[in-house]
Amino acid sequence: MNVENLVKKAVEDGAGILRLAPTWVPRDFLTPGGRLKLAPQDLYALGVHRGGIDERWLASTTHADNPGAPEDEGLSYVIVDGENGEKRKVLLKDAISELGEVLLGKDVMRKYGGWTVLTKFFDNASPIPHHLHQMEKHARLVGQASKPEAYYFPVQLNVIEGRFPYTFFGLNPGTTKEDVKRCLQRWNEGDNGILYLSRAYRLKPGTGWLIPAGILHAPGTLVTYEVQKASDVFAMFQSMLEGRPVSWELLVKNVPEEHRDDLDYIVDMIDWEANVDPEFERHHYLEPRFTENPEETRKNGYEQKWIVYGAEEFSAKELTVFPKSTVTIRDEAAYGLVVIQGHGRIGRFTVEAPTMIRYGELTNDELFVTVEAAKDGVTIINESNRENLVILKHFGPSNPSAPKSLR
Ligand SMILES: [Zn+2]
Repeated sequence: MNVENLVKKAVEDGAGILRLAPTWVPRDFLTPGGRLKLAPQDLYALGVHRGGIDERWLASTTHADNPGAPEDEGLSYVIVDGENGEKRKVLLKDAISELGEVLLGKDVMRKYGGWTVLTKFFDNASPIPHHLHQMEKHARLVGQASKPEAYYFPVQLNVIEGRFPYTFFGLNPGTTKEDVKRCLQRWNEGDNGILYLSRAYRLKPGTGWLIPAGILHAPGTLVTYEVQKASDVFAMFQSMLEGRPVSWELLVKNVPEEHRDDLDYIVDMIDWEANVDPEFERHHYLEPRFTENPEETRKNGYEQKWIVYGAEEFSAKELTVFPKSTVTIRDEAAYGLVVIQGHGRIGRFTVEAPTMIRYGELTNDELFVTVEAAKDGVTIINESNRENLVILKHFGPSNPSAPKSLR
């Protein structure tokens, strides 16, 4: 069967819902926290030279831009039952190229040309250096797209918060561009002190943050469900992390050749007003919001919250189905989903939150819901009589019901 027929069969078999295989991504400059349910002996399954696996990408059509990465690193596979019962797989990216209108809908394909959101879990033993993702005008100069991102910290994955559950955001009000330039001038003299110009916020499981492009951030050690625009553009502004140097190359890798020593250009990549905003928390903190009156939905066996909202490019929900409940939930757009607690059924699929996953093995925790199935409503059964069934759902730029602003 060719890709088109395989995808058609998958859509038919799953009544509009596709099963995805877990997609693991290593990072050679970070240390994994070991909280993604990947078996400990598999944390370095790709070899120590490739780095530990600290990310799991969800419903991804984005290639991981890692040195030495195989062609399909970062890309999600759809699992299809072949004619003889054997498992076949197709890249979600190829499935969308072939049947985008069926998976995402005509409007989305016309307007965006594909699935333009990248969702992942990341799990690091130490914080990430203070960095930003270029705004549109700077990203475009290097042939890339800007990258706003949002974080949510699922309670279920954060019983252990790691050794630094704080994230630095932006710059202290009153910081000047000269202050930042001085840090960049000191790059090779050890710690350039950029964090002295910033402040850290205590991360709270069950809440999140929305960080547009151009804002500096140094994520802490909570396991993070990150929803972002699909792009891999960044600039690191911190020269040392926990005693190890960060190369200047990571500051200028997405800076045009002629500006790589141009501190004015580099500092201009910072959205100054947004970084020194005295009301930073008020403008970026995400408190989950119920999608409907919770007293009503609880009577019907569930609770649902917007956990990522206020951005045009993406949104996300957390759905909790109570023990022994059956619910049918409608959404206005296609989405990827991952089960983080409990077990039961979603449409025709058995689902469960895994306890331990071997590298390369399939799971029952990740699905993709096509637009028609989402609109018709997906039936979810929590088969436990004790434990909640909890699901995170990630949407692209096309969900009209997502709240537009944070307040
Ligand atoms: Zn980032």
